[in-house]
Amino acid sequence: MISSSEMTEPTTAQAPETVTAVATETEMSRERDGEEEEKIRRQKKLEEALEAKSLRRIISAYLNYPEAAEEDLKKWERSYRKLSPAHKALVPHYALKFERLKRCISTNSYFIFNMLQAFEPPIDLSQDLDGYEDSNLDCAPHEKYVLDERHDSSCQPALTNNCAHEEESKSLHDSVRGTLSIAELQKKDTNGPSPNNYSEDARNNDDRYDCDGGQLNHDHGNASLSAHDWLDPSLQTHVPLVDVDKNKDYRLTCSNLFSSSIRFIRHTLNCAWFCCVLTQVRCIIRNIVRDWAAEGQRERDQCYKPILDELDSLFPDRQKQRYVSLSSAYRVNYMICSTPPSCLVPGAGLGRLALEISCLGFISQGNEFSYYMMICSSFILNYAQVPNEWTIYPWIHSNCNSLSDNDQLRPVSIPDIHPASAGITEGFSMCGGDFVEVYNESCQAGMWDAVVTCFFIDTAHNIIEYIETISKILKDGGVWINLGPLLYHFADTYGHDNEMSIELSLEDVKRVASQYGFEIEKERTIETTYTTNPRSMMQNRYYTAFWTMRKKCAITT
Ligand code: SAH
Repeated sequence: MISSSEMTEPTTAQAPETVTAVATETEMSRERDGEEEEKIRRQKKLEEALEAKSLRRIISAYLNYPEAAEEDLKKWERSYRKLSPAHKALVPHYALKFERLKRCISTNSYFIFNMLQAFEPPIDLSQDLDGYEDSNLDCAPHEKYVLDERHDSSCQPALTNNCAHEEESKSLHDSVRGTLSIAELQKKDTNGPSPNNYSEDARNNDDRYDCDGGQLNHDHGNASLSAHDWLDPSLQTHVPLVDVDKNKDYRLTCSNLFSSSIRFIRHTLNCAWFCCVLTQVRCIIRNIVRDWAAEGQRERDQCYKPILDELDSLFPDRQKQRYVSLSSAYRVNYMICSTPPSCLVPGAGLGRLALEISCLGFISQGNEFSYYMMICSSFILNYAQVPNEWTIYPWIHSNCNSLSDNDQLRPVSIPDIHPASAGITEGFSMCGGDFVEVYNESCQAGMWDAVVTCFFIDTAHNIIEYIETISKILKDGGVWINLGPLLYHFADTYGHDNEMSIELSLEDVKRVASQYGFEIEKERTIETTYTTNPRSMMQNRYYTAFWTMRKKCAITT
């Protein structure tokens, strides 16, 4: 009988042809390994190039905001011009309103460009997709851009695959410098015409900023910009545009605009592109009000306060320092051991909730996969120097449901607090990347005392995957606090064969959670708005599900 080890062990005295056969086999397996490695390397490079491309597009969308906003304004002006003289005479202030709107757009643009100037790309933006055109780029699964008109939060394009694992997750002040600056990017991608023709007076209407010889002096370190720099049309980026004629579904239009496409229209800055840019940036601006303006306080009280109160009551001892005895040969030493509880906020948006949790005395980490959001939150969290440093006009992009022009044109100061002086607990960080991808790493298992999801769980293609991940990363006895609706983001994205959307009812969500070891401790409905203009005649309200669930024990499925 031959033992299995004998069967596999090479014998010492082999015939020459056997040796050659073995050698060839080894060579072949080496070759296979090499091919495999090359494939992985190429795949990684492709993913990086895709990510760089996506990021360039997001930056371009921000850069195109002024043009897109002015294009909208021109549309309004055209309608006004069509009025008969008699009708025009009834709204004589309209011409002035347009002038005011122009100045508001300039002020918003000024904020946006300063934000971009401060942004340090975490990846090399110069890499491109040359040589990958045969790849199935359009179906890249990690490039998900969805516009959900019902849910303002989700109109951001969602970029995944910017994974930063916990040990890699950088402190906010520690971002990796990309090899291509925004200015360089602006130059690199300039390949189309620019209808941009700003006049000097359109630059800034905020007299808090000193205009000195054409320089807008705003002390932001490297964020200070020359007015000519940021308004120079030659520096505007123009993103290749796709032919969207066939695609009437606005959400899909936006999705396609941002995903890779072979059909570029280089020189037509068409309406769909502008609409899309405006919608994206408008969403971010509304999110800024939610998170970083005094005007957003009511909404934060509705959404964030119940979560903060719950964390506060569930972790009452977090501020107290724990004394741990250390035996030594002769005496007992006491060392102060104060490790605050840890809390993760997936889908952190612009970071206010994660910051508030940090200020409450938690080691708080926000996780977010939209570069739109990350660029903005990083700017506010890292670069704001004083409260109310910036002025924006968040509500100018819609003439609907206004009680007065002054309401529509009112300025909003941001940020309402100075984040760096807010009293954050050490360890506060933001981690870029897809929640499921990043936190399914084995090092994340059982790491967190609390997971907080606010308006997040319905962003999933597969909510069960979210619940499973939350359960996995919580310690036994850890808590999951949730507040939000079930307005599934991918519910209406038909047409993509490889897209999925699992849309569970609240009852089913709770049933699935119980399968993953969760027990409900608290549950109620909370009425909230989401990025709503408090002075609008339309106030969409959500009856959100708020709960606290505790992970009793790990469950297998
Ligand atoms: N919690 C914030 C933002 C809610 S909107 C608030 O209450 O204001 C949902 C956020 O989740 C968006 O910023 C979106 O970009 C982000 N998001 C969606 N899917 C994600 C994913 N898979 N991983 C990480 N973030 C995600």
